[in-house]
Order: sequence, then structure tokens, then C-alpha cells
Amino acid sequence: MRVVWLGTVLAGLLAALTVPPVPPVPPVPPVPPSTPSGPPSALPAAPSVPASIPLSVPPFAPVPGAGDPRGPTDAVIGERPDIWARAKVVRGARSLVIGTAAARVEELEDLARRADRAGLVVAEVAGPVRPLVLVPATTAQAATLAAPASVNGLAAVAAADRVIVEPGSFARLSAAGRDVVLAHELTHVATGAATDARTPKWLVEGFADYVGYLRSGIPVRAAAAELAAEVRAGRLPSALPGPDDFAPGAPRLAQAYEEAWLACRYVAARYGERALVALYREFSGGDAAGALPRALGVSAGRFTAAWRAYMKAELS
Ligand SMILES: [Zn+2]
Repeated sequence: MRVVWLGTVLAGLLAALTVPPVPPVPPVPPVPPSTPSGPPSALPAAPSVPASIPLSVPPFAPVPGAGDPRGPTDAVIGERPDIWARAKVVRGARSLVIGTAAARVEELEDLARRADRAGLVVAEVAGPVRPLVLVPATTAQAATLAAPASVNGLAAVAAADRVIVEPGSFARLSAAGRDVVLAHELTHVATGAATDARTPKWLVEGFADYVGYLRSGIPVRAAAAELAAEVRAGRLPSALPGPDDFAPGAPRLAQAYEEAWLACRYVAARYGERALVALYREFSGGDAAGALPRALGVSAGRFTAAWRAYMKAELS
């Protein structure tokens, strides 16, 4: 079975989301109120952004991990008994967090609370998800679990039904950063991104970051710091990022994620969150050529022009 593994780059998150050197386990803050993006001032006739739109259509994929809650635990441990011997298992309201024998239960409990909250945000936009989060003890173990994908530079990766934490990078994230990463990866799980070869990478990653940042309260210029610096210097991307722009080690990897995020943020601001979900469905259904006209009523060229104007307005 061919599985496309997906991850969240740390690069774009480091400036805004990390707490050097290694943060203590932070207290769990209350879930902040919704932080709609607001209409872009430079774009006329933009409707206001609804705080959230309950998804009235079926989710992208069946709820992973549904059924016997003991099932996923046994499956995970059975796959790699060398890593998960004497595993510590913490159940949240909806989440399941599995750590190694060396894990601190308090950290797993913190992750379960965050995964529960992230799962609720994801469910509002992308559909229900039952968070299954694996917490290996070392980067080497994370690499083993994520193979053949690399975890280099990633805080976590998403597979079809689970999120694998890269403990070294994840520990460097702030509380807000952990929530963003979890919501990002759980969005991939909810949308079935791991087995979706049709949806363009900019939409897969931009949509995951759209959900990831939705309740973060992080200002757009902070979350898109690298891209904002370029825009302020007069350099505006001319085209949506392609698959190569998201390759590990790509020279503008952080900017690619930020461009993709702002493309999705623009769609939600201009057309509404439901239209963003509809766009994703059009692409994932295989209609690449007709997706933008059908979901948004615009050509690819007009969409690109509007996205560029939005980036300039948001980041200048
Ligand atoms: Zn991703």
C-alpha cells in the first residue's frame, strides 16, 4: 500500500511558536474564543467570516479509531513491541495517547487534553476525528515509526489514522505551537490526506494550517513571518507553491507553507469556510481543472491574482 506521509514543518513555526530552550510542561490554557480572520480590507465585497460553520455534509473519511477503544492500542503496540513495551496509555475525552515506558504520564495527559481540543476544532471544519497520538521516546524511534518518511525538521507527522510526535522538535514548541501542530496533523487524518494523491499539496497543507491556526490567536504576520519579510521587500510570489516547494530542504519551505495557508485563509475570508471545504472536495474528487470554477466561480488565473492581492494586503 502506498502511503503518502505528511508533516508539519517546524521552520515556519519556529519564530512564533517556540519557547527556547526547552519549555517546561505548560499549564493548559482555556480554549480561546474563536478568532475569525476578518475580511481582507483590500478586497471589496468580501463577506464577513463566520466564526465557524458546522459541517452539514459527511466527513471526508470514516472516523478513524472508531469502535472498540482498545483496538488501536493493541494494534499500535503489536506493530512495534520493541518500542512500546510497557507502554503508557492515556485516554482523553476522545483522544488516545500512547507513550513509551519512559514517558511522563503528566505529559501524555497534557497531550490528550490538547488533542481533544484540537480534534474539536478539526471536527468543526473538516469533520470528526478520533485523535490517536503516538509519543516515542526519541527522534530515532519517531523515524522508525514514520519510515519511509523522514521526520527531520518535523514536529509531528500524520499517517492515515494517527499522529506521530517527533519528541525532540515537539518539545521545543510553545503551548500554542503544540496546539497548532496537533490541529494541523489531525486535519490530515480527518481529510484522509495520507491516501489522497489528487489534492494539490498547497491545498492539503494550506487547509491543515488553516485549521491549525484557526483558534490560535497568532497574528498573521507572526505566523507567516518569512513570507511577510519577502512581501515587505517587494517580492510577491507569482504562483501557488508546487509539490517541489514542499520537499524537505526546499529553499523556501517555510514560505511555501505560508503561501498555502494564506491561499486557504483567503478562500475562507472571501467565500466562507464552507466554500473552502467544497474546494477541497472538488480537488480530492479528482476535478483539478474544474475545481476553482465549480467551488468558487473563478478561473485559476483570477484566483491567483486575488490570492496575491490578499497576501500583499495581509502582510505589508
Ligand atoms: Zn501537513
